[in-house]
Amino acid sequence: MATIILGGGVSGLLTAWHLHRRGEAVEVWEAEAEPGGWVQTLPWNGPGGEPGRVEKGPQGILVRAGSPADRLFKALDLPLNSPGKGARWVGKGDQLIPVPAHPMGLATSPLMSLRTKLRMALEPFQPVRPAEPEEGLFEFIARRAGRGMAEELLAPMVAGILAAPPHLLSVDAIPLLRKWESHGSLFNGVRKSGISHLMVPEGGMGALSSRLAERVPLVRTGLRATALEHLPGNRWAVSAPGHRAEADRVILALPAFEAAPLLAPLAPAASEALASIPYTSVKLWHSRHTPLMPFADGFGFLIDPPSGRPYLGTLVPSWIDRGCAPEGLMQLRSFIGDSTLWEDPRPEEPKDWAWTEARLKRWLPALAPALQTREEVSPNAIPRAEKGHRARVRTAVEALPKGLDWISNARFGPGVRDVIEGLEDWA
Ligand SMILES: Cc1cc2nc3c(=O)[nH]c(=O)nc-3n(C[C@H](O)[C@H](O)[C@H](O)COP(=O)(O)OP(=O)(O)OC[C@H]3O[C@@H](n4cnc5c(N)ncnc54)[C@H](O)[C@@H]3O)c2cc1C
Repeated sequence: MATIILGGGVSGLLTAWHLHRRGEAVEVWEAEAEPGGWVQTLPWNGPGGEPGRVEKGPQGILVRAGSPADRLFKALDLPLNSPGKGARWVGKGDQLIPVPAHPMGLATSPLMSLRTKLRMALEPFQPVRPAEPEEGLFEFIARRAGRGMAEELLAPMVAGILAAPPHLLSVDAIPLLRKWESHGSLFNGVRKSGISHLMVPEGGMGALSSRLAERVPLVRTGLRATALEHLPGNRWAVSAPGHRAEADRVILALPAFEAAPLLAPLAPAASEALASIPYTSVKLWHSRHTPLMPFADGFGFLIDPPSGRPYLGTLVPSWIDRGCAPEGLMQLRSFIGDSTLWEDPRPEEPKDWAWTEARLKRWLPALAPALQTREEVSPNAIPRAEKGHRARVRTAVEALPKGLDWISNARFGPGVRDVIEGLEDWA
C-alpha cells in the first residue's frame, strides 16, 4: 500500500517510520523548509558568537524504562542525557515555594493547606469511575484528590504544561490521568507505572525529528498540501502548488485547524469536528544571564495563575540541556499565556522583554540583567482539549472515509510522549 503523509512534524515522521518499518511505501510532505514542526532545535549563538541553541517547542521528554518512548529512542540509536534531579518551585504570591521531589514530601510542604493534605491522603480509597461520560479535568482531580488539590495545585501545574486554565479542560487533556486511575487510584497508577525521568537527546530535541527524517525513505519539504481528491478505485490524489501525487491512503498528520479545510469537501462532518478544536497561542522569551544560585541548578518555576496572569513560569534550559548555553551562562525560557484565557488585568500592555523581566524579578529579585534576549511567538501552538474534546475527536475520526486518517497531538494527547504512545497503539 502506498501512503502519503501530510505534515512532517513528529506525528507525521513517526507515523512514516512505523509504516516504513512494516515494509509499506510511504512519503511525507512538509510545508516548511525543515521537517520537525514544533520539535526543532534552533541555533542561538552566545554574546561572543559561541555556539548555543534554543528549542522551538519541547525542552525535554519524560522517559520511563521499558516505555514506548524508551523503545523508540533505542530503536533510533539516539542517546539521551538526563539532567538528574533538580529543584522546582511554584510561585505563589511573591514567594517561590519548593515542590517536594517525592509525593510524600507534600505532607510537610507549605504548598497546600492541612485540610487539602488530609483529603489527598484519601485518594487511594476513592472509587474508580467509568471512562464515560467524559469528565472535566478540574472535576476529575477534585473527585479523586479533593477540591483543595484542584484549586491549590492543579492550576500552576496545568498552566505550565498546557497554558490553559484547568476548569476549561477535559480530563483527556492529560491522558495519563485516566490510565493511572485504571490501576484503582492515581497513587497506585503512579506507583505501578514506574518513575519517568526528564531526558533530552544529544544535541537537543530537534535530534529526534532529524533522526526520524533520516530513517524515513522520502520527506519532501516546502510542499504545502492544498487539496485532496477521491479517485475511482478508492485511491486518493493530493495537490500542492506545482505538485500532484496519487496514493492508496493519505494520512493527515496536521493540526486540526490545518486538516479541517482539506477535508471539508470530502468529509464535512470530520472537517467540522476538527475545526471546533481550539488551540492556545503562547509567547516565549529566551534570555541569558550570569547564573543565579540555587535557581540555576534546577528545573525552574511555575506560577500560580492569579499571581502571574498571564505570565506562566520560567524554565532553566541551561540546566535541562547542558549544551544549550555558552559556558558560564544561565539560559532561561519564560512562558507568557494568552491574555484572553487568563483574565489579564492589562491586556493592552505589550508583553515585551521589560514586562517579562519585571515578572521574573518579582520572584528572582537578584537576577542579573540579561546579556541576550530572544523573542518567540508561537501562534496556535498547543491543542486545547476543552470539555467535549473526546466527542470531537471521535466524530472526526469516525467520519473519515476509508483511506484517510488523521494523526496529531490533538488526537493522542498534547505532549511528544503522548504522540509516541498513541502511535505505538495505532501502528
Ligand atoms: C512552546 C511549546 C512547548 C512545548 N513543550 C513540550 C514539552 O515540554 N513536552 C512535550 O512532550 N511536548 C511539548 N510540546 C508539544 C509538542 O511540541 C507537540 O506535541 C508535538 O510537536 C506535536 O507534533 P505534531 O506533529 O502533532 O504537530 P506539529 O509539530 O504542529 O507538526 C505539524 C506539521 O505539519 C506541517 N503542515 C501544516 N500544514 C501543512 C500542509 N497543508 N501540508 C503539509 N504540511 C503541513 C507543519 O509545518 C508542521 O511541520 C510543546 C509545544 C510547544 C509549541
